[in-house]
Amino acid sequence: MYRQLVGAEVRLQFNKGEVTLEYFTPEELQCSHCQKDGINLEFMERVSALRKQLGFPFIVTSAYRCPEHPIEARKASVGAHTTGKAIDIGVSGLNAYKLLIGSLNAGFTGIGVQQKGEGRFIHLDNIEASEDRPRPWVWSY
Ligand SMILES: [Zn+2]
Repeated sequence: MYRQLVGAEVRLQFNKGEVTLEYFTPEELQCSHCQKDGINLEFMERVSALRKQLGFPFIVTSAYRCPEHPIEARKASVGAHTTGKAIDIGVSGLNAYKLLIGSLNAGFTGIGVQQKGEGRFIHLDNIEASEDRPRPWVWSY
């Protein structure tokens, strides 16, 4: 992954396929603990298509996390975010409703909903099903 400045907009480009993602910056997709780039291209193309369709900003609260990220390190086995095929989007109310419908229609198979108190978000992923993490699946936090 590398960066390109297009006017005032920072665009995210992947070497593989030369795909440009308009709506996300490299900083918000990388591991917040070590700044490693590990997001998956095909996954982000799906997220971007949904972002374009829904027409409101996606506030990324977490995307790629390396296995040493504190949240992953304390789990029994590392989670969806370490595959680069998971994202948490800060959203509530009407936009959460729109994001839920849109993500189901878009084929996201892991959907986690946190809509209580502060820090409301919806988690989307497309990881392979495993014993620990069956897919398709919906859960709350
Ligand atoms: Zn890290």
